Amino acid sequence: MSGDCENLPTCGFFKKYFKVNQTACRTFIKDYCRGETRNVCERKAYRKLNGAPPSDDMMPNGVMLPKLTS
Ligand code: SF4
Repeated sequence: MSGDCENLPTCGFFKKYFKVNQTACRTFIKDYCRGETRNVCERKAYRKLNGAPPSDDMMPNGVMLPKLTS
């Protein structure tokens, strides 16, 4: 089943990276934020467990993004 993640409007990762033209970001957004794996997103799990979202730089697989060079 496809569809957007319910956290998409408030998700720091999505807001920060959805315009970034980097393969990893685009793939995560396609597969997680707008795809079928949204329910196994580590950011979502973190938010549920801690009551607050993780760093914007944490990817949906739980790994921190290295600093991007512009
Ligand atoms: S990163 Fe995770 S919590 Fe954020 S919009 Fe994508 S699927 Fe949802």
